[in-house]
Amino acid sequence: MTQPSDGPSTNLPTPGRALAIGAHPDDVEFGCGGTLAKWAAAGCEIHHLICTDGSKGSWMPEEDITALVATRQEEQRAAARALGGRGDVVFLRWVDGELEAGLRQRWEVCAWIRRLRPDVVFGHDPWRRYRLHPDHRAAGFLATDGIVAARDPHFFPEQQLAPHRPSKLLLWEADEPDHVEDIGDHLDAKLAALLAHRSQYRTTMDIDDPSAADEVARFRTRMAERAAEHGSLAGIAYGERFKLLADL
Ligand SMILES: [Zn+2]
Repeated sequence: MTQPSDGPSTNLPTPGRALAIGAHPDDVEFGCGGTLAKWAAAGCEIHHLICTDGSKGSWMPEEDITALVATRQEEQRAAARALGGRGDVVFLRWVDGELEAGLRQRWEVCAWIRRLRPDVVFGHDPWRRYRLHPDHRAAGFLATDGIVAARDPHFFPEQQLAPHRPSKLLLWEADEPDHVEDIGDHLDAKLAALLAHRSQYRTTMDIDDPSAADEVARFRTRMAERAAEHGSLAGIAYGERFKLLADL
């Protein structure tokens, strides 16, 4: 990792294992898909932990919710593969829109951190100001609070799992980003993973007609512009920016 004296740090060394904790299927790809693809290509084992069932991810009142949940899980697995992921894709299946950062949820996240033993954890920044979506806030706190529980043997000893302390936490959508990962060679993998979430084209990608090449092209352009904006924080062409917590 390089740490200039007066700017963001860049490019952590590739960890052995990484775990990304998202509220909904597709959040991880938006937040850190490029970094996960880069690390997977370099041999990192990447895992997904998705807190909710994604059952609110449709604007159609007549939607078959059971089918939507199953579809979104398949899409999430396909997205993980598109990133080069060979690890687990875990679904906690809390009801979309009703996620809480309570003890039961923390217990589950703690158990998965102890099982998967990631060196680096990714999550939503729970302290981002003026954030509306409660699931994103709750999932962010589950990542931070899950780490605190996982690292200490006196939290949830009934799990009978060895404690595990990750070395770093990277928060996406960060209120005060101070770290950038270069994703210039992995933007295509991030886009492919995002486009695996076909049921979300209308709701999160502003693509009305997936068969319309120009709409998909416009989404690609928007994602490239966002990566350029993130990278500019550190003079990098295409990046993902985070808040880095390195003292866990
Ligand atoms: Zn989300």
